[in-house]
Amino acid sequence: MNNDLNFSGGPGVLPATVRAEAQQAIDCVPGVGLSVLGISHRSDWFAAVVAEAESNIRALLGLPADYAVLFLQGGASLQFSMIPMLLLRGTGKTAEYLRTGYWSSKAIPDARLEGDVRIVWDGEANGFHRLPGPTEFVCSPDAAYLHYVSNETVEGTQFHYIPGIDSVTRVCDMSSDFLSRPFDPNRFDLIYAHAQKNLGPAGVTVVILRRELLERAPPGLPAMLDYRKHLAAGSIHNTPPVFAIHVVMLVTRWLLRSISGLENMARINQAKAAALYRAIDASAGFYTGWAAPENRSLMNVTFTLPSPELEKKFLEKSAAAGFSGLGGHRSLGGIRASIYNAMTLEAVNALCMFMSEFESSSRS
Ligand code: PMP
Repeated sequence: MNNDLNFSGGPGVLPATVRAEAQQAIDCVPGVGLSVLGISHRSDWFAAVVAEAESNIRALLGLPADYAVLFLQGGASLQFSMIPMLLLRGTGKTAEYLRTGYWSSKAIPDARLEGDVRIVWDGEANGFHRLPGPTEFVCSPDAAYLHYVSNETVEGTQFHYIPGIDSVTRVCDMSSDFLSRPFDPNRFDLIYAHAQKNLGPAGVTVVILRRELLERAPPGLPAMLDYRKHLAAGSIHNTPPVFAIHVVMLVTRWLLRSISGLENMARINQAKAAALYRAIDASAGFYTGWAAPENRSLMNVTFTLPSPELEKKFLEKSAAAGFSGLGGHRSLGGIRASIYNAMTLEAVNALCMFMSEFESSSRS
């Protein structure tokens, strides 16, 4: 195994420099003299870490002041509940969901516990191979909100436009493509993304929301499920995952200082994805891309081989060559190469080379 060749769907690869800084911090945070694992979440040092993580995210996105940035626990999955608790419970309205794959499907049952849900487009009939175009579904101007997943991690499909009506509250699960490309934050009302793809280790979820949404909160929310409590406490309502938030700060600092922002990050991500999709398309049917070409993800490249036996052999040989994390999600099978921000173009090129050699040796 080799950290640089870790194509895992998540937790995924982190930048080598960040891993080195995190390692040093586990031993002793420079200037503090203690391990990050043993520093109080009430310390001035940690307050500065949270402040920098937030300001880095604000700088990367050009986020206006009327949005709050929160660092929460419970993974992206807890947002499946917290969002409808805030925006649907007791409203008598209907929440709208785009059902485009494994993760958007997971969000729907939790929303149904809070009120009416309408699926405005359902990709199940086409096997979740493709996403809807903007004219293939109609959203209601009266909906409580529209929820969608910008990048379906399992299937490897990604929206390359922003669906929905701008006057309706737009909620997006960006867990697997947050900070991988620039976008206009003003088009969104609530964005959430767990850390373990592009941001850091598992344990923390970034939530960005328009502050005015909080005025809609129904009475009786438990404190841990109430965004207002977390905002008032500066994300330290209870003991937060200090280490995970510290690494998010380091990764966002890396994005700003070493990558020089999201435009550059997007260019690198496009080059990586283009190389892999070229390798698939040049294989004359040996490798078959899962996603419809216009919906291909720049983060999760999913494909199949001519038989399950060849897929098994592909995984064995690639593991022997140092690659890891290439097995498709347990619900789908096949191969998935996750090429999050920290995956280098060199590593992707090495995988393309391996694919070409594997194809030649399998054909001969
Ligand atoms: N949404 C998306 C798009 C995901 O990829 C995942 C997990 N991979 C989740 C939600 C669930 O996240 P968590 O495990 O942090 O609850």
